Amino acid sequence: MQNQNDQSRMDRIVSLAKRRGFIFQSSEIYGGLNGFWDYGPLGVALKRNLKDAWWHDMVAGHDELATLAGAPSPYEMTGLDCTIIMHPQVWKCSGHFDLFHDWMIDCRESKRRYRYDHLHGRWAAHRGKKVFVTTDASGDEAAPETVARAQKFFGLRAKQVDEIEWGGGLESLQQAIAAGSATLADTLGPDATAPGSLTEPREFNLMFETRIGALAGDDEDRAFLRPETAQGIFVNFKNVLDTSRVRVPFGIAQVGKSFRNEITPRNFTFRSREFEQMEIEFFCKPADSAAWYRYWRDRRWKWYLDLGLTAGRLQLREHAADELSHYSVGTADIEYAFPFLAAGEFGELEGIAHRGDFDLRSHMEGKLVRQDGGLVVETGPDGKPRHKGSGKDLSYFDDITRERFVPHVIEPSAGADRATLAFLCDAYHEDEVPDEDGKPRSRTVLKLHPRLAPVKAAILPLVKKDGMPEVAIDLYRALKPHMACQYDEKGSVGRRYARQDEAGTPWCLTVDGQSLADRTVTLRDRDSLVQQRVAIDEVVDLLRDKLS
Ligand code: ATP
Repeated sequence: MQNQNDQSRMDRIVSLAKRRGFIFQSSEIYGGLNGFWDYGPLGVALKRNLKDAWWHDMVAGHDELATLAGAPSPYEMTGLDCTIIMHPQVWKCSGHFDLFHDWMIDCRESKRRYRYDHLHGRWAAHRGKKVFVTTDASGDEAAPETVARAQKFFGLRAKQVDEIEWGGGLESLQQAIAAGSATLADTLGPDATAPGSLTEPREFNLMFETRIGALAGDDEDRAFLRPETAQGIFVNFKNVLDTSRVRVPFGIAQVGKSFRNEITPRNFTFRSREFEQMEIEFFCKPADSAAWYRYWRDRRWKWYLDLGLTAGRLQLREHAADELSHYSVGTADIEYAFPFLAAGEFGELEGIAHRGDFDLRSHMEGKLVRQDGGLVVETGPDGKPRHKGSGKDLSYFDDITRERFVPHVIEPSAGADRATLAFLCDAYHEDEVPDEDGKPRSRTVLKLHPRLAPVKAAILPLVKKDGMPEVAIDLYRALKPHMACQYDEKGSVGRRYARQDEAGTPWCLTVDGQSLADRTVTLRDRDSLVQQRVAIDEVVDLLRDKLS
């Protein structure tokens, strides 16, 4: 069961995110659009800092001459920025056109649609009448929701709830039907008043469709918004090889929007319909691929820890053999214990997959399927490839060893929005600090890593007179070219500290009477609350050092 405190903590995080301008619902003035989110002034800075940290640590700041800890050898990194709409054949060969779907189920009575694997239920009986009561609620809301639904279904008063006999705990509807312990005819849908209103589950492709050009109409114009950024990298593999001097092993990175028409977007930005991914396709020799897979899994895990995610809320989960995609030799997920999940549950932040040569071969030969332990081109009834590949040679020739091979791929695929949400949740703290008179005051503080914090420093004149604003403005102008900082003279200094704590600003610089006499300011640390006096002329170097 989910911890009550965790759910209310999540509610407070969502409310802070809105109140302080981190995240808004898209098109809110028109009632919002389910599964779409906008980033406000603080949120855009937080998410940009996260993407910049990723790009810097993985690509721009990468030292290709060194052998990094755990890496089998030195390697190169480069980048790409591909279009969101690509040739429709890309998605046919990648497998998304045929296979990228979820199972959905409709309710004929309420006209609502659910993801089959999100429905849970349990048997309830009262005076000889039995029904399998379901809910689409998650976490700690699910069990009480089934009680309320059963009470209503049997027409009971609150004090009669104990008369309901329960046949076990909550289980997945999908599994109960597969095991034969429930049928759709016995099932009371999450918003239905009578059992038997749920339809048989159906496949639903998650790709958003669009049409290209003014003569939109026939099937030739049909196109898709990319559901992942990865395919743009595979189809440009040869372009990158031919135009840059990269040699295997090397990685190509891309950050950009992806779109998935999720059946039930939920849990704030965790499952959105439009989101950003940060993906690397790393190309290596087949014989070295298992070692590179382990390197990337461990490297990506460490990245989240280095940026401050609490180790106890993070989990690295290797997929079991039966969970692996048909092309994968190994996959690990980096998962975070988001507060909206039940205790002991984790949500995926990033997947690191060993994809073998599946992707490059698919774009050469056509859509592949697994057969007798290998990959073969899938054929249609006419014996021809079901989805024809490009026919281009995407193999690699190593001019030192004189070998030609199709590189294997390791793919660390992260979500920028999920990571932003994880860092926001992890940073959220409530504690007590002394106010100006030394009395305890409760505060909300975002203990974000300084690299991620939207504002690095706030410059505050103690009072709006006696020459203090002038000194503070000079300091603000000296610091601004080096880092995001804010000047704030409005309200008591305590209120200004509180505002900055809620925004996650790691340092506050206060100009007071002494500053005018000796050109020093107080530097307040957000987390330790320690205040030290530093020379104004040393502030820029000091904070730059702390940031790096
Ligand atoms: P899930 O099982 O949670 O739907 P997935 O396994 O389909 O995720 P991938 O296809 O591996 O996800 O995508 C890589 C990353 O992209 C995920 O780890 C996640 O961070 C992000 N991502 C995927 N789908 C969404 C979404 N609907 N909203 C926000 N981020 C997403």
